[in-house]
Amino acid sequence: MNGKTVVITGGTRGIGLATAETFARDKANVVITFNNNEDIAQQAESHLKSISENVLIIKADVTDLEAAKKVVSMSKDEFGSVDVLVNNAGITKDNLIMRMKESDFDSVVQTNLTGAFNMIKAVTPVMLKQKSGRIINITSIAGLRGNPGQINYSASKAGLVGMTYSAAKELGSRGITVNAVAPGYIKTAMTDALTDDQKKGLLDVIDLQRLGEPEDVANTIKFLASDDASYITGQVISVDGGMNI
Ligand code: NDP
Repeated sequence: MNGKTVVITGGTRGIGLATAETFARDKANVVITFNNNEDIAQQAESHLKSISENVLIIKADVTDLEAAKKVVSMSKDEFGSVDVLVNNAGITKDNLIMRMKESDFDSVVQTNLTGAFNMIKAVTPVMLKQKSGRIINITSIAGLRGNPGQINYSASKAGLVGMTYSAAKELGSRGITVNAVAPGYIKTAMTDALTDDQKKGLLDVIDLQRLGEPEDVANTIKFLASDDASYITGQVISVDGGMNI
């Protein structure tokens, strides 16, 4: 990845940070974004800068198209290209449908689905001009199989799968691949909210008998961004310890 520029939305913690670290170690220029959490963003920045000088961190809400365009233009100004976009920023606001507020449905879809649309829309002119690019959308097992209490989240993640297929068909002839990664249960702040009983129950449905590590997902993202994956597009790769078999 030497000299390639990788933009990762929501790169300050969890899967996004592990992905940023993996690319930084591989000598890519790394751009990460975040939304709210300045303290965690600062920690991520100093951690990544201890690995590589070529790191840029931008506060930008993916639900805002203008902010998405700013991320792309700042990345290009700083490093000269945008070679890989990882649409990783995501939130959950779980509840059973009877109790789910419309605003919780809307904000999850806005962040997880419209956010990815905004970033793809912003990056496409740059990648079309380069005649190359990799777009990797982080969906979820919940988007493939559904999950009680996650109607908003599952809908947004299933939408990302459709977006991946359409964008792959639209952009393939211009040298741009579009793929998705579907994690199962990965140890991050998002899954810290699960009770110990819920975590134990999960082991019954995970064939590999453990929750995933953020690095398990990061390594798959890195593969999809690498030259080894140049003939792969329009695919959804599950990284879930066997949950989706
Ligand atoms: P975390 O909650 O640990 O981190 C989320 C990141 O997204 C943070 O950096 C956060 O920034 C950022 N973010 C949230 N909203 C926005 C926004 N509007 N604009 C820009 N950045 C934003 O998430 P995970 O690492 O657990 O998950 C990463 C991705 O993987 C998500 O898309 C998630 O749905 C998906 N996934 C995760 C699974 C898991 O088990 N953890 C399983 C399946 C899929 P800030 O701190 O500033 O809010």
